[in-house]
Amino acid sequence: MSFFIPGRTTCAICGQPIDERSAAAQLPFVAPDDVPDLAPLGRSFVHRSCWQTWGERERFVTAASALLARAEGDASTLAPSVEGRNLVSFRVSALGAFRLQDLEALVVVDIPASDACPLASWLESCARQSAAADLPVGTESWHVGIREGGVELVRSVDGEVFEIVTLPRERLAEWAGVVARMCRDAP
Ligand SMILES: [Zn+2]
Repeated sequence: MSFFIPGRTTCAICGQPIDERSAAAQLPFVAPDDVPDLAPLGRSFVHRSCWQTWGERERFVTAASALLARAEGDASTLAPSVEGRNLVSFRVSALGAFRLQDLEALVVVDIPASDACPLASWLESCARQSAAADLPVGTESWHVGIREGGVELVRSVDGEVFEIVTLPRERLAEWAGVVARMCRDAP
């Protein structure tokens, strides 16, 4: 299922309804040849809390990363390249746009080319500093708050929060590195 309906969409891990979009994450595709038992779960929604402690998490992440590493894009489609540990960047050459996908945090971000450079330096400073900060990214507003052991990224559109994800600072620094490359590649 690809549509999220608050209170109706159920978590593919625990089977319970997910009350709010900000408590949900969407699983990526995995290949039936790699993990036949897990492949039917591709694109399903899960509670972020269930994902964090799920016993199959590592196997799922590994299979998703392997599938993207094999994938090939062309000029008009998303061309993925695995940039680091379970971190994938995509380029849509025709649009001059980018996508960042963190397979561990279950985050997908579409980045207009014109936003890549400001986002790269903002992420870099968020990874180093200990103050909360805000930045517009495409049609979204991002807020980074400081949490014990890491940062909390809150994404919203039109004032409505749709994603809250906690990341280690090092991970944010890795994001910054990938987006910095997007910045250099931007047309
Ligand atoms: Zn759940």
